[in-house]
Amino acid sequence: MTDNKNSDDYGFETRAVRAGYTRTAEGEHGEAIFPTSSYVFASAAEAAARFSGESPGNIYSRFTNPTVRAFEQRLAALEDAECCVATATGMAAITATFFGLLKTGDHIVSSRSIFGTTTVLLNNFVAKLGISTSFVELSDLAAWEKAITPQTKLLFLETPSNPLTELVDIAALAKIAHQHGCLLAVDNCFCTPALQLPLALGADIVIHSATKYIDGQGRCMGGAVCGSKAIVGEGVFGFLRSAGPSLSPFNAWVFLKGLETLSIRMKAHCENSLAIARWLEQQPVVERVYYPGLESHPQHELAKRQQSGFGGIVAFELKGGKTEGWKLIDATQMISITANLGDTRSTITHPATTTHGRLTPEQRQDAGISDGLIRLAVGLEDIEDIKRDLSRGM
Ligand SMILES: *Cc1c(COP(=O)(O)O)cnc(C)c1O
Repeated sequence: MTDNKNSDDYGFETRAVRAGYTRTAEGEHGEAIFPTSSYVFASAAEAAARFSGESPGNIYSRFTNPTVRAFEQRLAALEDAECCVATATGMAAITATFFGLLKTGDHIVSSRSIFGTTTVLLNNFVAKLGISTSFVELSDLAAWEKAITPQTKLLFLETPSNPLTELVDIAALAKIAHQHGCLLAVDNCFCTPALQLPLALGADIVIHSATKYIDGQGRCMGGAVCGSKAIVGEGVFGFLRSAGPSLSPFNAWVFLKGLETLSIRMKAHCENSLAIARWLEQQPVVERVYYPGLESHPQHELAKRQQSGFGGIVAFELKGGKTEGWKLIDATQMISITANLGDTRSTITHPATTTHGRLTPEQRQDAGISDGLIRLAVGLEDIEDIKRDLSRGM
């Protein structure tokens, strides 16, 4: 757990490159990695003072490591958060949020359109502790308010949603949450702080899978929770310290490097995605394109207001259904057939038979996942090569 005390008045790009690192006595320019499980104390009295919390300092790398701390500080500086706790994976960040902040009898209202594993976590594991969840339509503010009960403690969502890029008005939902004494948690994985700052819009907690755009090159697993010291520094950090889904210092170092190029990478992902989305709209075999940057997107105005860029995920529906969808995917020669995203490499999936394959046909229809839907996570390759690869199977 790390408090953010260095963002001062530097701009976003400067904080991304420089925040959160204290040079050691060696005078190194690049950040050091500290692969150590424990730390040595000068005396028995100092050990006692550290353990009691009287004197600050490193104790044990499950919850104090200088490289992990540097990553936490840098991300906190970018999210404009008082505090950040890094975790082993994105799912560990979500688990630490639920288990660190909630107790038996509490109730969660969650968007229906969230990462599949988060749904499984809520329904199969969080539920076992007597913490129930109601799922609502992401953009429907009235449905959120209606689902809140006196037991509701937390509202949870991702925006834009995956794969249909639906949005919710974070500021409006934060107001509703606070009127009912609930916390609002936003999984900001798709936008990253380079495109969207949920805390500034009124959210209480920001969650990340650092595995995606923060790494940016598909190498390491990691996650983080950002928010106030009172919420994240107590409950979430307390859970991490005791349960132990901690980030490795090696991965923290990779993410530190990832944050340094986050802003320029996200700009490039956005630029490529908009170009691909516009091009897809022109293709006769394409029925519909889902991308918040398109004027045809029903929430384009909200996206312009709430985000500083439209992100790297483009979904599109083919007229031909599953047959045409699989044909397009199988005809690609460059784009990777994988469900991961946030990589320099473009990836393509058929949600109906992969990420959403466990849903019944009715559930899929409710979620808007048609058989002809393709999800593209647009990478940083030459835009003409991406178009050419997609055209092969059209
Ligand atoms: C991938 C992902 C997660 C889970 O992160 P892991 O690092 O894979 O555990 C959570 N939320 C969203 C939106 C994701 O895309």
